[in-house]
Amino acid sequence: MSNIYLDYTADTPVNPEVLDYFCFVEKEYGGNPNSHHQNGLKAKEYLEQSQNNLRQLLNIEDRDIIYTSGASESNNLAIKGYVQRKRHFGKHILTNPLEHPSVSAPLTFLKDTGYDVEMLKVNKDGKIDINDLKNKLRDDTILVTVMAVDSELGVIQPIEEIQETLKDYPNCALLTDATQAIGKIDINLNIADMYSCSAHKFYGLKGSGLLIKGKDIVMEPLIHGGTSTSIYRSGTPAVSLNCSIEKALELSLQDLDRNYAYVRSLNETLRQFFSQYKNVEINSPVDSIPHILNISVKGLNGNKMQELLNDKGVCVSVKTACSVEGMPSRAVMSMYNDRKRALESFRISLSHLTSKEEINEFENIFDQVINNVS
Ligand code: PMP
Repeated sequence: MSNIYLDYTADTPVNPEVLDYFCFVEKEYGGNPNSHHQNGLKAKEYLEQSQNNLRQLLNIEDRDIIYTSGASESNNLAIKGYVQRKRHFGKHILTNPLEHPSVSAPLTFLKDTGYDVEMLKVNKDGKIDINDLKNKLRDDTILVTVMAVDSELGVIQPIEEIQETLKDYPNCALLTDATQAIGKIDINLNIADMYSCSAHKFYGLKGSGLLIKGKDIVMEPLIHGGTSTSIYRSGTPAVSLNCSIEKALELSLQDLDRNYAYVRSLNETLRQFFSQYKNVEINSPVDSIPHILNISVKGLNGNKMQELLNDKGVCVSVKTACSVEGMPSRAVMSMYNDRKRALESFRISLSHLTSKEEINEFENIFDQVINNVS
């Protein structure tokens, strides 16, 4: 059976160079960087050097980097850690329906403990409604969350405009989940107060990620313990995992423009292909990142479509891998206000590793599936 992987938004395969580098660092720098002897100091210096390189790679010379186990931890730390610290300034939080569960679930948790969590409107183009943001901001608003790119539709959000809107609210921070942007598009990580990401979305290793924040942002740690690379995240630093984030980024950024152009061409091929089917609706706006193409097939539930494609060896996703099964996509609902369309939606996600042959084969399989059910 074929194996056509079109779910690069959920996970990218590790770049073999990253894996080799991980093994090299693990073997060479085995000491605990928190130890005060030569092996510990050697590991600490190596990690510090890697962190400096990472800052340069990302052009974030004046920002703090916190190594985490991935974007879920980064988002949890940013949200719970920040609001805990800012609790005396208010309990109002603004978010939006496009956020990943690692943002929406901690916010639901906070809501249950007495925080006032409000949703921002999404415009017809999938972008956050800035006027709605202006109307909903209050003196007791302490946090706004808007991702750089959402994982279901791939819409790029106007982060600069959003941050500009917040400038008169000094106690309010902006958290931007950049998991689907870093390594795929050019992104300025100096605008929002905090950014999160996971290395396995840019051909790095699972279980490693970052929270990048402005120096003025203070939080309550989620993991209390001894001193480490950051006061916000205790424990023995995972030197090899953390260093491999730098390697994965270096490699993804090297070919960013070329890879982007290639993925765009694949996206255009697929959009053209789907345009011949009257029962296919494309949910991702044309100016979304090309790596994500969300569609709905009229009369066919997204989960069913995923199952039928999977039976023929094609891997696609319904909503994000981490969301609740059987519920309509919140992202598609918020854009089109159409429950059926939201239930019928699924996501195809592409990479520079996707070959044109795979796209051809996918098109044939899609055609067979559609003809068999109609
Ligand atoms: N945010 C976004 C936008 C994501 O796509 C993901 C991964 N699906 C996460 C956060 C969580 O990343 P991880 O599972 O690596 O913690």
